Amino acid sequence: TPTHTIPTSAELRPGDAAWLAAHWMPFTGNRQFKADPRLIVAADGAYLIDADGRRVFDGLSGLWCTGLGHGRREIVEAVSRQVATLDYAPAFQFGHPLSFELANRIVEHLPAGLNRVMFTASGSEAADTALKIARAYWRVRGQASKTRLIGRAKGYHGVNFGGVSVGGIVGNRKLFGQGVEADHLPHTQPPAGAFFRGQPPADGAGLYAGAALADELLRLIELHDASTIAAVIVEPMSGSAGVVVPPQGYLQRLRDICTQHDILLIFDEVITGFGRCGAWTGSEAFGVVPDMLTFAKQVTNGVQPLGGVAVRQGIYDAFIDAGGPTYALEFPHGYTYSAHPVACAAGLASMALLQRDNAPERVRALAPVFEAKVHSLRGASPHLLDIRNYGLAAGLTLAPAPGEPLKRPFEVAMRMWAKGFYVRYGGDTVQLAPPFISTEAEIDRLVDALGETLRALD
Ligand code: PLP
Repeated sequence: TPTHTIPTSAELRPGDAAWLAAHWMPFTGNRQFKADPRLIVAADGAYLIDADGRRVFDGLSGLWCTGLGHGRREIVEAVSRQVATLDYAPAFQFGHPLSFELANRIVEHLPAGLNRVMFTASGSEAADTALKIARAYWRVRGQASKTRLIGRAKGYHGVNFGGVSVGGIVGNRKLFGQGVEADHLPHTQPPAGAFFRGQPPADGAGLYAGAALADELLRLIELHDASTIAAVIVEPMSGSAGVVVPPQGYLQRLRDICTQHDILLIFDEVITGFGRCGAWTGSEAFGVVPDMLTFAKQVTNGVQPLGGVAVRQGIYDAFIDAGGPTYALEFPHGYTYSAHPVACAAGLASMALLQRDNAPERVRALAPVFEAKVHSLRGASPHLLDIRNYGLAAGLTLAPAPGEPLKRPFEVAMRMWAKGFYVRYGGDTVQLAPPFISTEAEIDRLVDALGETLRALD
C-alpha cells in the first residue's frame, strides 16, 4: 500500500466544472467524463485507487502497459536515483550509458537478427520512425521508388500522421484528411459468432483461411508493383481493434511474400512486446521474424514514456555504410526525449523484473485459465457476438444498440468501474488485459463481474 499521502476528493475538487474544463482529454468523451469524473489518484499492484479511496482492479494493465503491476519498488527506486543523478542528457550527438545498456537488454529478448535499436518516447513515434526508416532504407540502397506503405484494416499504429495513414481504425482516421499514401490489407477478424479460442485454425472457412488472407498482399503487389512498395506494417496480434488474433499461417505467409518481393515487414509490437502473448514478443509467440519491430508500453511497465524500433543489422548497416564524412548524420531523425535517461532507467528496471519474474512464463501459465474463464461468458447476453483471446488479452464484440453503435461497450465499462473493475471499451468491443501478476482468483472475479454486467445488459 502506498505510504505517501493520497489527495482526498475534496482537495481534488472533482465535479467542479470550471476546474475540469482546461484539460482537453485525449481519446475521451470530454463532456461525459467531466459530468462524471473518474479520477485515479494512486495505484498499487494490480489495483488503481480512485479519489474516493476505492481499489479498482486494473483489468487492462493501464493501457496494456503495466503488466508487472503498479508501484514496483525496483522501478520506483531506479527512476528516483536517475532523476537525482542525470535528469536529462542531450539526445543528439552526445549519449548516456543507460540507453546503450537498455538496447543490449532489449536485443537479448528479441528474435535473433533484430539487434539494432532506435529509441523514441512513445509507440506512435516508434511507428512513424519505423515507416521513415523503411522509406529511407530503400533510398540509401538506391531504390528510391520504393515508398509505398501498406497497413491493414482495423490496424492501430498510434496517432501520428504515418501511423494514422497505415492504420485502419476508421474512426481514428476520418477527421484528418490526406495523410501518407497507404494501402490496406483486409483485417483478420473472424466473422461474428466464431468464438475461436486462441489462434484461429489455418483451415478456417473461405476467406478466413490465414494464408488466403495474406495473399491479398499479392493483389496489392500486382496492382502497384513491388518496385514501389517499401514496407508492410501489422500488429502480430492487434489490441486496440479488440484483440484480433492472426489465423495460423497468416504471418508466415506475409513474411514469405515480403521476402520474395523485397518488401520490409514491420511488426508493431507496442502491445505484444515483452510478455502479453506469453512470450517476449508476438514474433516469438507466432514464430515469424519481421525486419523491424516496434515496442513501447511494457518496456518501462508504463512508468516512463519510452518506445523504440529494433531493426535487422543489415538495415542499420545500409545507413552506416552509405558513405560521407563520419561526422555526417546517417539518419536525420530523433526526438528531444529519444532514450530519455529517466525512461531508460525505468526500462532497465522493468526489463530486469520481467526477466526475474519470468513474466512470459507467468502469462503462459495463466493464459489457459483466462481463456477458459472468458469463454465461459459465451451466451451471457444475446448482444455478445464474439470473444477472442490470446495470452493475457481478450476482446469481446457487442452488437450495436439500435441507432447507438458505441453505447453498449461504454455502458459495460462504466458498470464495471462502478463494481470496482477497470476495463477498456473501444468501437464495438470491450477489452481485457489483466496484469501478469494477477492471481487466478482476481481473474475469476474480473470475469465474473463482467458476466454479471453482460447478463444485465438491455
Ligand atoms: N501501436 C500499437 C499497436 C498500439 O497499440 C499503440 C497504443 O495503444 C500505439 C502504437 C501507440 O502508442 P502510443 O500511445 O504510446 O503513442
